[in-house]
Amino acid sequence: MDLRFRDAEPTDDERAAVDALLGPPATAWDGGVRTATGLRFAARSEPARDLLLPALHAVNDRVGWISEGALDYICRRLTVPPAEAYGVASFYSLLSLQPRPARVLHVCTDLACQAKGAADVRRRVEERLGAPGDSWQPSPCLGLCERAPAALALTAGESPAATVYGPADPDALAAAEQVEPPAEAAVPQAGQPGLVLLGRIGVVDPASLDDYRASGGYAALRRAFQLGPAGVIREVLESGLVGRGGAAFPTGRKWDATARQPDHPHYLVCNADESEPGTFKDRVIMEGDPYALIEAMTIAAYATGCAKGYLYIRGEYPRATRRLEHAMATARTRGLLGADILGQGFSFDIELRRGAGAYICGEETAIFNSIEGFRGEPRSKPPFPVEKGLFGKPTVVNNVETLVNVLPILEHGAQAYAAIGTKDSTGTKLFCVSGTVEKPGVYELPFGATLRDLLDLAHPEGTLRAVLLGGAAGAFVTDLDIPLTFEGTRQAGATLGSGVVLVVNDTVDLKGMLLRIAEFFRDESCGQCVPCRVGTVRQEEALHRLSGRVDQRDLVLLREVGQTMRDASICGLGQTAWNAVESAIDRLGVYK
Ligand code: SF4
Repeated sequence: MDLRFRDAEPTDDERAAVDALLGPPATAWDGGVRTATGLRFAARSEPARDLLLPALHAVNDRVGWISEGALDYICRRLTVPPAEAYGVASFYSLLSLQPRPARVLHVCTDLACQAKGAADVRRRVEERLGAPGDSWQPSPCLGLCERAPAALALTAGESPAATVYGPADPDALAAAEQVEPPAEAAVPQAGQPGLVLLGRIGVVDPASLDDYRASGGYAALRRAFQLGPAGVIREVLESGLVGRGGAAFPTGRKWDATARQPDHPHYLVCNADESEPGTFKDRVIMEGDPYALIEAMTIAAYATGCAKGYLYIRGEYPRATRRLEHAMATARTRGLLGADILGQGFSFDIELRRGAGAYICGEETAIFNSIEGFRGEPRSKPPFPVEKGLFGKPTVVNNVETLVNVLPILEHGAQAYAAIGTKDSTGTKLFCVSGTVEKPGVYELPFGATLRDLLDLAHPEGTLRAVLLGGAAGAFVTDLDIPLTFEGTRQAGATLGSGVVLVVNDTVDLKGMLLRIAEFFRDESCGQCVPCRVGTVRQEEALHRLSGRVDQRDLVLLREVGQTMRDASICGLGQTAWNAVESAIDRLGVYK
């Protein structure tokens, strides 16, 4: 490959950060010391393009930004053209290609925070630190919606640090430390009997494998080994479990299709990149019950014939990342990850990959590109991931909530699991309640409970105007008797999506919220296909005009653009970018 480098060299810090990840370079061809012999032969180590994002993270974490010299050094080490690496580095909002201070504050200005005073926080931060730029920037949802308005400070250095602020007090944002409340603070039902997925949160020490095992942990994996891979898939099929990320595809069918693929190796990818504004349930599970996810991934890998799994987690989730890293290391030392798990002859391990601030990487094929070291752009389907996924191999992708549902299915049996909920929506569901409520947080209810049942637990504040179901890609509803099931919300012209329930009362600026949704999609569109790349811009422009003066021509234009995005976009981002705006116009009469 003809690689064209510039003359820039990395600093010692940048070189050290990359070498700590990749090991020292073996030859001058990799960026190492030039020797007479080394220069005579084009010998280099095996390139590993999939380490591009971790290498960019390593420099960004150490120095705060990625210089030309650092980028070139990474490219030499991984045999990646600098132009391509630049395209990857500039794709992610947490990485910077411009010099900036070691500490950067990310102030959430997204929906849940907007409903709880983010505009005021932003204004006061701007008064202190000046216009957004080097030292602070507005941020899409940080997944801290129960503590809205939220902020996150990332500090680069030899020991990089992440400090979470929620609720964010502009007077305290300069403080280096803030004690984070425990994960159970996000679960108002913590400790209550009958919880299936949240039962351990607040009850069991998330750092202790012994506590996890004493509370029934790893019973499901033992049962899986008794059933065998085909038996596990049969149980999951009979349970009726469907994916909890929004598409509601039957999990057992996905597993079965992957397991049957003759091509090997098979890969498992856990999608922990929950970035839908208003979604934070996966974060709470990973922080409060990390071993449950590791056990569930091990079962999924066993059933589908995977020896390697990737756990792709949001870059904005520092505590969940730390807890999972600790839990994986402990599981390895105790024979629960690695070779010959529990002496059953099954080997499996997990590699954790950090996202870097790109909503689209929550799309199942965009994750593959991100892990492989390319821009996180969705791929056209077919081929589907079960045939050609990560590295072109059969891959099963499940999100965190879907995976942890497998534990009760195996512990109590498919029949018992299917007896909860309704015929078409079995089991329980996690709901992320935020906005104008007294008790925001993650709630667990059996499918079939109504929106009113859920709001009775969360106590709405003031006069209810609407509820945004399913997040920015969802729809506003006003009927509180909608059953919270896949079929019930579909009938009501809404979606459960990833379980977002954002409550909006009459004090919230709805037009401002719609503008934020439009801005979000415009910003997060990967730009790969025209309907979405152009449509999201036109949608935002029309909404800006409508905020000033209502012109029917803009409403007609919005509908045309929205329908085109829905019909012709490659992936779910473009296909759903008009949903919330359409529902606000039709059901709430926002621009009448
Ligand atoms: Fe990218 Fe949008 Fe097209 Fe999806 S719909 S591929 S996000 S441009």
